[in-house]
Amino acid sequence: LGSTNGSFINGERVAHRVLEEGDKIQIGTSVILKFTYHDELDEDFQRQMFESASRDALTQVYNKRFFMEQLSSEHAYAARHNSNLALLMFDLDHFKSVNDTHGHLAGDYVLAELTRVLMPAVRTEDIVARYGGEEFVVLSRTTAQVGAEHLAERLRRGVEQHQFCFAGKIIRVTVSIGICCMPSAAITAAEDMIALADRALYEAKNGGRNRVVSAA
Ligand code: GH3
Ligand code: MG
Ligand code: MG
Repeated sequence: LGSTNGSFINGERVAHRVLEEGDKIQIGTSVILKFTYHDELDEDFQRQMFESASRDALTQVYNKRFFMEQLSSEHAYAARHNSNLALLMFDLDHFKSVNDTHGHLAGDYVLAELTRVLMPAVRTEDIVARYGGEEFVVLSRTTAQVGAEHLAERLRRGVEQHQFCFAGKIIRVTVSIGICCMPSAAITAAEDMIALADRALYEAKNGGRNRVVSAA
């Protein structure tokens, strides 16, 4: 389409060309697309590859890498359109003592069970991810401050009221949640959202845990 920098197929600058299986199409300096035909089996395989590269093995929610990519594009969109975006950062309270008291298998069960509490409680378009060991994030589009606080409080209460039971023992589980929302004058880069939510989470811990704190 007359691009300034040209379009390249297999390294050769072209104007028009019929694509063939395996052709590599270069757009700009950093994007290369590969053209291939897939049957259903290939498609399933590719989807599984994508899923396993973007999901956490223990909990099946998205992994940190996938979340960071989504955060980056959602932040860019919200900044451009001055729209809402909420980030909720969760950390399990005194989780080390769950491991110490009940063992690591029980700890693993709690992590997986926690995501089974979170998943049905968020919208389909919300992104739930495991950010670290016992830290999770929910990224919610078009959710403003008040909505984010309601959501966080609902999730916090849901976890507190859920019965976690492993090997016949009831395990008490609570979470602390830090929130930050766009638009905010304090946010210029996507990383600012993480820093702000993290600081709010730290305040929730200091304030006694099992609570929600919003970034100032
Ligand atoms: P706080 O309320 O301050 O967050 O206390 P905490 O005990 O949750 O925090 P701390 O950072 O001291 O401990 C986190 C624990 O999470 C320690 C680590 O062994 C455990 N953990 C991290 N990832 C996993 C995992 O995949 N499985 C299990 N079982 N435990 C994990
Ligand atoms: Mg932690
Ligand atoms: Mg913790």
